[in-house]
Amino acid sequence: MKCAILAVGTELLFGHTVNTNAVYLSRQLNSMGIDVLYHYAVGDNPDRLKELLHQALKDCDLVITTGGMGPTQDDLTKEVVCQVQQDQLQEHAPSMERLLRHFQKRKRPMTENNKKQALLPSRAIVFDNNHGTAPGFALTFEERTVICLPGPPSEMTAMFSESVGPWLAEKSSEALHFCTVRTFGIGESMLETKLLPLIDGQDDPTLATYAKEGEATLRIASKRATKEEAKQAVEEMLSRVREYIGEYIYSTEDQGLAEVVAGKLIARSITISCAESCTGGMLAEKLTDVAGISAVFERGIVTYSNRAKHEELGVSEQTLQECGAVSPQTAKEMVLGLREKTKSQVCVSITGIAGPEGGTEEKPVGLIYVGVVFDERAEVFELRTNNKNRQWNRNYTVLFALDKINRMLDNRDVE
Ligand code: AMP
Ligand code: MG
Repeated sequence: MKCAILAVGTELLFGHTVNTNAVYLSRQLNSMGIDVLYHYAVGDNPDRLKELLHQALKDCDLVITTGGMGPTQDDLTKEVVCQVQQDQLQEHAPSMERLLRHFQKRKRPMTENNKKQALLPSRAIVFDNNHGTAPGFALTFEERTVICLPGPPSEMTAMFSESVGPWLAEKSSEALHFCTVRTFGIGESMLETKLLPLIDGQDDPTLATYAKEGEATLRIASKRATKEEAKQAVEEMLSRVREYIGEYIYSTEDQGLAEVVAGKLIARSITISCAESCTGGMLAEKLTDVAGISAVFERGIVTYSNRAKHEELGVSEQTLQECGAVSPQTAKEMVLGLREKTKSQVCVSITGIAGPEGGTEEKPVGLIYVGVVFDERAEVFELRTNNKNRQWNRNYTVLFALDKINRMLDNRDVE
């Protein structure tokens, strides 16, 4: 099935509202094996909406609209969809009853324009709104279906997951299975290059790469007659993918690095502490985002100044003077001091130059040292990002540190 998503609402064009509905629907539809070909957005203007609907229905057998379903004058989606799909609005008795009950329960008077929400196309398949007043519906004409959903995200997503999704799944003849492979330490273009032998001439399973904030993600998807066949095809492809890029893979279940690391620490009851300089507590934050981490997370210290590195972690004044705060020696003394203080099994230190200013020829912006101690093993890693963006450097450093912890926990190669 080929689909277009059409968001209706002038607020979207003004930039007052972010089109989160399209993101949600795209994710849902793709995971069901429905190809999303277009995202459209249009204001509350019936002529332009009509034109776009015609346009979308040329290429797609399914168009899903969101918005413009309310009781006011500018809510025109239903009227326009009726014109395009050759139907008329009529009162839908069950929806009228629900509407009356809704207002009775809240002891609020129902205004005349509210009744408009119980007017639906005569041939519509109606989807109840359990979180608001505007029902949704599907209307088919000449084998093309338009589904209209309310604009408020809470109503739209509930309606989709409760009724529209299952209805579409029943109609769709193919089954899709996919797997999201998350990697770190390899860029998107290198990932694609390494996988070229698998990607070339491959139409099922498909392999698609995405870059996201310093990470590269690979999606393996298969569409077959049954879910089992699709799943098997994906698993076979995944084992071939491992042969090519296995060393970079940290999750095949679409988990983030922090989640993966925290999961291992919790499962194995391994305690952890971190001392951060340039990331200012971001590593601690990422780890403590994961529920259940309190069983193993001992402490996180932000040791930003030289004084803090000395007082909190016992980094020697001589080291700070002679080697500087951003040096492998300081990272090492930080992590050993942290271990001394906390006795955590895993200790991590981070010190670096996040930028955009403060770099020198010898120590440029984006030079970062990460110290990791795990039981008997102590390592200091150097990272050079070649990037002056402060936020990017900080985010990437956290991922870099997490990747090293992950590898050390697995007893894998750390380079
Ligand atoms: P409507 O159904 O057009 O009355 O939309 C009601 C409200 O839903 C709007 O005021 C927005 O806050 C929200 N909304 C509408 N369309 C979208 C969209 N595409 N993404 C996110 N929110 C939306
Ligand atoms: Mg609107």
